[in-house]
Amino acid sequence: MQLYNLQDNEQVVSFVEAVKTGLGRNQGVFFPTELTPLADVDALLELDFVTRSAKVLRHLLGDELSDETLAQMVAGAFTFPAPLVKVADNLHCLELFHGPTLAFKDFGGRFMAQCLAQFSQGEKVTILTATSGDTGAAVAHAFYGKENVDVVILYPEGKISEAQQKLFTTLGGNVHCYSVKGSFDDCQAMVKQGFLDEELKSRLGLNSANSINISRLVAQVCYYFEAVAQLPKEQRAQAHISVPSGNFGNVCAAMIAAVIGLPISKLSATTNQNDTVPRYLESKQWQPNETLESLSNAMDVSRPNNWPRVQVMLDSGQFSYNDFFSHSVDEATTAAAMRELQQLGYMAEPHTAIAYQGLKADFAPGEQGIFLATAHPAKFKDSVEEILGISLEMPKALADALAKPCLAKPMSADYQQLREAMLAKLG
Ligand SMILES: *Cc1c(COP(=O)(O)O)cnc(C)c1O
Repeated sequence: MQLYNLQDNEQVVSFVEAVKTGLGRNQGVFFPTELTPLADVDALLELDFVTRSAKVLRHLLGDELSDETLAQMVAGAFTFPAPLVKVADNLHCLELFHGPTLAFKDFGGRFMAQCLAQFSQGEKVTILTATSGDTGAAVAHAFYGKENVDVVILYPEGKISEAQQKLFTTLGGNVHCYSVKGSFDDCQAMVKQGFLDEELKSRLGLNSANSINISRLVAQVCYYFEAVAQLPKEQRAQAHISVPSGNFGNVCAAMIAAVIGLPISKLSATTNQNDTVPRYLESKQWQPNETLESLSNAMDVSRPNNWPRVQVMLDSGQFSYNDFFSHSVDEATTAAAMRELQQLGYMAEPHTAIAYQGLKADFAPGEQGIFLATAHPAKFKDSVEEILGISLEMPKALADALAKPCLAKPMSADYQQLREAMLAKLG
């Protein structure tokens, strides 16, 4: 797979290089130079999830990895299912929260861990990342116990929920956590300084695990095939998929799936009140506002950094603007959508409810509607219990984590302190 930098088209890299570097020159994201259609999608849809995913990835990645290696990596990453649950006639939910940290980020995080383990060839790797919630847990679990890899996670003390925090701070081993007296932006600034520190970079083999890494996107392509595969054969061409969107990585993966031949009739990318993209599609003006806090906090993004990848597929006509929809859903409507799903017998957290609401807006008769459940309701226990008037049982993974002590070390928002701690521990 060859990829080019969308900010600087001259920069062309292999998949391996794109995974190792993450971001290109001038902060540009990498995108495949070519996306070719799959030969026999119908036959692929008959295969099981892991076998099919290895074939889809082989098609996307080309011969940089052998069939055997790729099959092993996929089997190691996708160890949990992505069931399509029927909610009503012509309405289905793709549940992506059955992984170890109860959110869809496990798919991408775990495949990225497989890639880095494969590509580093025994060199030491240190993943340094700041988290405001779900990514930290997915990355920590994905790399936990992996040889030659250490993970350093910074998070703002007191600013993330206990459930989110305990999912990564209780692991120990090669996962090192620091609770920073400051904001998420302070944590992110410390991480950025780390990547500018050549000595630290080379001594520890620093790598980031943020959401623009191409390995996470290609992994996510696979579960869209799994969604359509679970529809009855005669309904597969009518799949209308709605993705709750923040950074627009997940919907980008859906569009790549469509471009390489998965029958998707329409795509809805639905946002919360952080509505930069819906406004852009109306006015053609890119005008991000200040980021607002919402019930769906993993989507509180006003500068979605995967949007250039989506736009290049739309502008080139690989996916039609006519089949792409993006609406924003406000807080009251999010809560109403959660209650409406409850009436239909389905319990959803806020991100999932937004996908459902966005689907309804553009749904046409004859379609099979699929909205994505990106997180388990228990991960957003407080708002779910309050809005739905119920009391939630904790899934075992979460209950276990909550019972363990937090192993994070306190730290001030001071890069020198981070540097010394990392060199003392890992250098
Ligand atoms: C990250 C996240 C999203 C947004 O996905 P993007 O790829 O950033 O658009 C939606 N829901 C949940 C639960 C998430 O953690």
